[in-house]
Amino acid sequence: MAQRRRRLEAEPLCRRCKERGIITASTVPDHIKPLALGGSDDDDNIRCLCKPCHDEVTAEQFNHRATIATDAEGWPVARV
Ligand SMILES: [Zn+2]
Repeated sequence: MAQRRRRLEAEPLCRRCKERGIITASTVPDHIKPLALGGSDDDDNIRCLCKPCHDEVTAEQFNHRATIATDAEGWPVARV
């Protein structure tokens, strides 16, 4: 999706990791206020995150613990 790619190019490093002094490539454009909670799909409601951060903030936003499985190498795998 062109918009996703454009947003990742605009913010290539995970914002949440960067705030903690960690440099991580962003892979997921995240809605700061989730669409499901009435957020907009405008660029000013978008921050780019790495997948683990995205999973964490999404779990926080929806007020439940993330149930993230990991594969043999310890990388998180998406829930289906
Ligand atoms: Zn991150």
